[in-house]
Amino acid sequence: MMAPERMQSYREMAKKVRAHCLRMTHRGKSGHVGSMLSMADLLAVLYLGILRVNPKQPRWPDRDRFVLSKGHGGAAVYAVLAETGFFPKEWLDTYYLDNGKLSGHISHHVPGVEFSTGSLGHGLPVAVGMALAARQAGKKHRVFCLLSDGDCNEGSTWEAIAFAAQHHFDNLTVIVDYNRVQALGKMEDVIEMEPFARKLEDFRWAVQEIDGHDYVQIETALNHLPFVPGKPSWLLARTTKGKGVSWMENTVACHYGAVNDEQLAKALKELEVEQ
Ligand SMILES: [Mg+2]
Repeated sequence: MMAPERMQSYREMAKKVRAHCLRMTHRGKSGHVGSMLSMADLLAVLYLGILRVNPKQPRWPDRDRFVLSKGHGGAAVYAVLAETGFFPKEWLDTYYLDNGKLSGHISHHVPGVEFSTGSLGHGLPVAVGMALAARQAGKKHRVFCLLSDGDCNEGSTWEAIAFAAQHHFDNLTVIVDYNRVQALGKMEDVIEMEPFARKLEDFRWAVQEIDGHDYVQIETALNHLPFVPGKPSWLLARTTKGKGVSWMENTVACHYGAVNDEQLAKALKELEVEQ
């Protein structure tokens, strides 16, 4: 049972993240809005309930590391970082603008961001390196990496998967924003990964599959890490691309693009956010 206040705090944060992403991409006239809306609930639980981070000390050596591999959706991470006090919310108004504080793809020059990504397949190899470094230094912090469907198609991701299992990195957790839609099409038409859980189990990872919009399921899974001692954890979070905006949900078209004035107003209304 999750306390109602806790559930409410996750719901409110996810709503704020979605609203920020819509406004940011509208203002910047660019961005991968569908990818951002998809992972808002995962980010809300991670930043409010799971990650041991300190907004006042973004480089605190013992912090948990969070790497967003799907760097194109970086605005959603910027939004949750601003809402949790890593930097002023006014910075969000400069997203994707010339000389702005926040670049289109995620940048480690922003407080709270560990690594810059954009080209797919880079996040997990780096996260695995962070897990190795933590172990070698005798540190207890954990490493989390959020992957997209497209990331899972990349060869470099699979090299990292094999390496992490071989070295028993149970300080490492992968979360897949498994909306099954990627840049140029649906997963079944691009590179199908099913049976996905079985593939990872064959690679000696501990796997759990959840509804990536269900706060109880997300929190419960991430409160029980590692899933199996001695194995890296893989959380396959089933999500909906464009979640929360009816005409975007499950469409390839929402992968990239900004909303116009009329669409912004309509989307914020659907999210029940003040205009
Ligand atoms: Mg996807």
